[in-house]
Amino acid sequence: MFKNSIGRFLGLQPPRLPLEAGALPIQSIDAPKLLSFALGRGAGVGLSASVAAGDEVDAGQVLATDEVGRVLPSPYRATVATLSTSVNTRGGRPGQCVVLQPENTSPAKVFEVLDPESADVEALAGRVREAGLLSAALRPAPLLEVLRPTGDADQETLIVMVMDREPGVSATLALVKERGAQVVPAAKLLGRLAGAKRILLAVSEASLELVRHPAEAAGIELLTLPLEYPETLDPLVVQRAGADPSTPVIMLEAALAALDAVREGLIPSTKVLTLIGMDGEPLANYRVPLGMRLKEVLDHAGITPGDRDKVIAGGPMRGYAQFSLDGVIDTGTEALTLVAAGSMVDWSTDPCVNCGRCIEACPTHLQVQLIGRYAEFELFDRTVELEIDECIECGLCAAVCTVNRPLLQLIRLAKRELEDAQ
Ligand code: SF4
Ligand code: SF4
Repeated sequence: MFKNSIGRFLGLQPPRLPLEAGALPIQSIDAPKLLSFALGRGAGVGLSASVAAGDEVDAGQVLATDEVGRVLPSPYRATVATLSTSVNTRGGRPGQCVVLQPENTSPAKVFEVLDPESADVEALAGRVREAGLLSAALRPAPLLEVLRPTGDADQETLIVMVMDREPGVSATLALVKERGAQVVPAAKLLGRLAGAKRILLAVSEASLELVRHPAEAAGIELLTLPLEYPETLDPLVVQRAGADPSTPVIMLEAALAALDAVREGLIPSTKVLTLIGMDGEPLANYRVPLGMRLKEVLDHAGITPGDRDKVIAGGPMRGYAQFSLDGVIDTGTEALTLVAAGSMVDWSTDPCVNCGRCIEACPTHLQVQLIGRYAEFELFDRTVELEIDECIECGLCAAVCTVNRPLLQLIRLAKRELEDAQ
């Protein structure tokens, strides 16, 4: 099945890709001696370190903060080994990180337990904030800010993704199989935090049966999505739900992390991800300590990529090819995808031939060929008029381009330059 996806990625098949219908069980990976935590918190948000090399920190102690009170708490009792610069796994500029040497990495209860159903919403919001929770998105951002993008105003609708988004990735399905009973309580908690009147679980046929009864009993709607990429990306999910375009769509793992912070007093310390092998088949679902280097995950799996093989942080459609394996796992790393030398697309600098395939493939109906040209010639401001912000980075335009123009890379370059210019 997944080889078809690669074929599609190479532009050989019609613009819909099959998603995984099954999932390998989750295996836990032990933490290495050092773990790195980036201080970047999503678009334009960075924290400043509040610890120094050599400091002893307790679990829950704030490692970094900003002027509006966003925090990065330590998941462990640890020694701060160093403050360093970390590789940006999303192609951005390197950023600061705190490197910890944990004393031990068993989950530590650091907060007082709250009842997610009866606790005051402000207390719940405070907990999400003090646990430093991030969305488990392509580019993670503070969870509370994603749930309430306009500040205090309630959301009409909230959607929790109880399925995976990209071909070959099955981490969320594996998580539902493991923690199915906690899906509804987690969704209800996020619903309270967002002030949402309507809560939906976006499910596949495989995850539907695992959550159907508790969801129906709790009055939570089920939205069954086809096992086809890009139907799982936010704007298309929201459209299918008939909801307002600003509706937050939250991955299940972030919802469970919020539940754990509230009900168990825990700070999230792991990420469940799928390792996708060179032949496109899922090799494993791993529970990986946050802050572990990509190289260490591959070493655990017994994989040493060759010089010209590629390692992609993320899934095959939206992931970022890595120039170094020193980048670390964060809450947005839903997969590690290996691509053998020779099977990567040869991106070309050939000019656009105006075939229109990218426009036909684009789920958000953008003038992709023009955006690509403006980005190529560094006319980034012109891409704003073409609504580059509406691009959901699905990668389909690049996959179908007749002359293999690196459209997704150009779009990301333009977005980053526009963000940096703000
Ligand atoms: S422009 Fe963006 S949304 Fe449209 S196909 Fe390309 S990556 Fe997808
Ligand atoms: S698919 Fe490629 S060649 Fe065709 S219009 Fe789009 S950018 Fe141009």
